[in-house]
Amino acid sequence: MRTSILILSGMSCLFACGAAVAKDDGVPTGKLPAEVAPLHYALQLTIDPRRDRFDGEARIRVKLAKPSDHVWLHAQQMNVRAVRAKDAAGAAVEAKAVTHGDTGVLEVRFAHRLPAQDVELEFDYDAPFNGQLEGVYKVKVGDDAYAVTQMEPVSARLAFPGFDEPRFKVPFDLALTVPVQDVAVANTRPVREEKSADAKWKTIAYATTPPLPTYLVAFAVGPWDVAEAAPIPPNAVRKTALPLRAIGPRGSKDKLAWALEVAPAIVAFYEDYTAQPYPFDKLDLLGAPDFSAGAMENAGLIIYRDAYLLTDAQSAADHYRSVFNIEAHEIAHQWYGDLVTVPWWDDIWLNEAYATWGQAKATSALKPEYHADLEALESRLYAMANDSLLSTRKVRQPILGRGDIETAFDSITYQKGAAVLAMFERWVGDERFRKGMRAYLARRAFGSGSSDDLIETLAEASGKGETFAKAMRSFLDQPGVPLVRSELACEAGKATLTLAQSRYLPYQVMSKDAPRWGVPVCTRFGRGGRSDTQCFLLEQPEQRFDVAGACPDWYLPNADARGYYRFDLAATDLARLGGAIATLSAPEQLVYADAIDSGFRRGSVSAGALLDAMPALAAAQMPQVATALLGRYEWIRAHVADAAMRPALDAWVTRLYAPRLARLGWHRKDGEPGTDTALRTRIAEFLAMVVRDPATRAELGRQGRAALGLDSGSKADLSRADADLRVTALKVAVQDGGQAAFDAAQAAFEASRDTTERYALLAALGATRDTALGARARDYGLSAAVQIGEMGRLYEAQADEPENRAALWQWLTQHFEAYRKRLPPFAQAWLPKTFAPGRCSAAEADEMSAYLAPRAKELIGGDRGLGQTLEGIRQCSALREHVDRKELAEWVAGNAVK
Ligand SMILES: [Zn+2]
Repeated sequence: MRTSILILSGMSCLFACGAAVAKDDGVPTGKLPAEVAPLHYALQLTIDPRRDRFDGEARIRVKLAKPSDHVWLHAQQMNVRAVRAKDAAGAAVEAKAVTHGDTGVLEVRFAHRLPAQDVELEFDYDAPFNGQLEGVYKVKVGDDAYAVTQMEPVSARLAFPGFDEPRFKVPFDLALTVPVQDVAVANTRPVREEKSADAKWKTIAYATTPPLPTYLVAFAVGPWDVAEAAPIPPNAVRKTALPLRAIGPRGSKDKLAWALEVAPAIVAFYEDYTAQPYPFDKLDLLGAPDFSAGAMENAGLIIYRDAYLLTDAQSAADHYRSVFNIEAHEIAHQWYGDLVTVPWWDDIWLNEAYATWGQAKATSALKPEYHADLEALESRLYAMANDSLLSTRKVRQPILGRGDIETAFDSITYQKGAAVLAMFERWVGDERFRKGMRAYLARRAFGSGSSDDLIETLAEASGKGETFAKAMRSFLDQPGVPLVRSELACEAGKATLTLAQSRYLPYQVMSKDAPRWGVPVCTRFGRGGRSDTQCFLLEQPEQRFDVAGACPDWYLPNADARGYYRFDLAATDLARLGGAIATLSAPEQLVYADAIDSGFRRGSVSAGALLDAMPALAAAQMPQVATALLGRYEWIRAHVADAAMRPALDAWVTRLYAPRLARLGWHRKDGEPGTDTALRTRIAEFLAMVVRDPATRAELGRQGRAALGLDSGSKADLSRADADLRVTALKVAVQDGGQAAFDAAQAAFEASRDTTERYALLAALGATRDTALGARARDYGLSAAVQIGEMGRLYEAQADEPENRAALWQWLTQHFEAYRKRLPPFAQAWLPKTFAPGRCSAAEADEMSAYLAPRAKELIGGDRGLGQTLEGIRQCSALREHVDRKELAEWVAGNAVK
């Protein structure tokens, strides 16, 4: 039966703008009612990426658990041409589709009340390819056109009518009709292919998927290159070989080899850890020429930004590391997220924390030279900075609107979540933790599991029961970083440790809450040349513990740096710890540096004391440790030092780091350790961009000019610059090279199809400090030449240069709407942050607030993004007011390079 023709459009207030409950008229804008659930989808889509719209037919088998005269589901920006319904006996039921404004909720209304039974709903529809990289969207590259999908979190409703919530996991049968010359891929293997009578189209039917939520459905159509690898061989966990392919834009085939090469070991690693075979019938890794996130873990078809999948001989060492990490993250999701899915978005941390934690585990095992532990720790410290805002999210944050869903993909979800898993793993031991993880996956395979399910299973495996559960929940259900104050007392050879907890808050930040955590404080005690560790569970505001063994010479209240907390030691104990720094592991050295930095941010460590700690760290081998306090140096230089102090400060820091850079040289050597390469990149960038050291800039400028072909008059060839220094070299060349360099970089950008090269060139264009060229760069970022996923590179580089900030802000106020419109949904909340670097006064916070506060509601999650940004600026301002300039001036005078 055919019913009315409807146009569904608009896209605001998906979740009732702040209410998870149904509105008065009964439209379920939060969760759909529990009485109706999908059982199976059959989707037939006709996709030609050269067109502006696509067509679809969706047949959904639905279970009515109670008698009903209607069904609620999701559909958005979609023209539903017809809806038909059949009852359990196969008889047609008169039905019509009714939209409810722009809620994204669709009602199928039956002519009469149906008894509880299974019914079939069938929709004919067409819809536009999306313009913000969500749902089904298209990307043009030269004359080529590609269609790509991104459904998470709530964009499947742009692609097909359905029950667009993660708790509904059911099988999908997908068929795609596409132009005969295009390649089409989906979640599962193709099982049938037919050509149309005119031989212009082909229809490919794919194998029925295992139960999936709508957000993991994926497909892609276009002139893709496909690189097929040997199937991943069976093993003790998986009985059959697993087909493996990598797919990229036309012409990229050779650049897919490395991603393919590393995949089998990653898959086997998780199979071994989880004791569950890879859950789907093949693994495709697809690099899309434009994509909103880094990558997406669609079941059996992982979609990446192509830059994060492709590699070649010109790639930076750091680029290989990122490709590996992202691949390890997305493959981890095939178990954590895909095999077992969270029932609702308030538990999304489970997916992301697992994948982040699992990725570090896999990387540590398979690529120890990447030092995944240090990388994870650096990310954790970044998350702790966010978690020190009063406006931060909890890991398990209630979902009250779409903004809560889109902003849930932040460092609290990923890095804090992963850190909490790692901390409790350290506390209960790897074996018991793995036992719990295996039990959880086995019990819930192809279904759903919540935080409570996981905590219960882990608590059981840990042997600590409710003590474990309570402690773990304390990190998920309240925001903030614990600050553990620690005091050691020794009497008659017996040592006791008094630990007290409070929330870590930066200088002058006050909170009325007095949160209490269950913190496993694992502590390293050093005696002579040896050390051992002991773990204490700090549950009370203050507790005293006996220390086993003799009184230690020094101690570190975060052994192995696995704890998600900061610590505060008496000055003498901190000094003793500093004296033992060489005996600490690199991650422990990094938490020692953080203790100094976080003390500075609390106002309890002076600028001079912080600078005094730098030389010992600067000598460290690991790049993360050697550069640990450079960010704070930059802050002190920008916000505390005056023009008179800066030259002396810069000379001091240059003398600390330039000799190391000189020893490392200006080019990666054959077979050099990755840590040397990374250190070279970090120091060169710091000296060139922060200190603006003339010698460093001269060398990088030479490399950048050569890459742009400026002095030779030849075409640009970025391989002429060192792969690991290229981004900074191009920035310096454009900053110092005037219009000729800017034009050359722009021409090279437009000629390049390599996304990584394009990112570097865009950053160089953005980094110009010239007034007129800066204006050109800002407008260029909104032009069709720059893809949506690339834009950020340009504006972030602009904002990094103090000379550009006023003009950039002016520009934003004139182009806000055009800029906002191009941002994908989950980038919108963070718009204020992009334009905030360097702002550190109440006046600058007020200026930003006056303009953006009235516009925040136009940005999905804008209130949260703006709130956090403003709070960050105000914290910066308070600290700046507090830091003793006289003490710094004296320090500078006392440490002047002679
Ligand atoms: Zn993820």
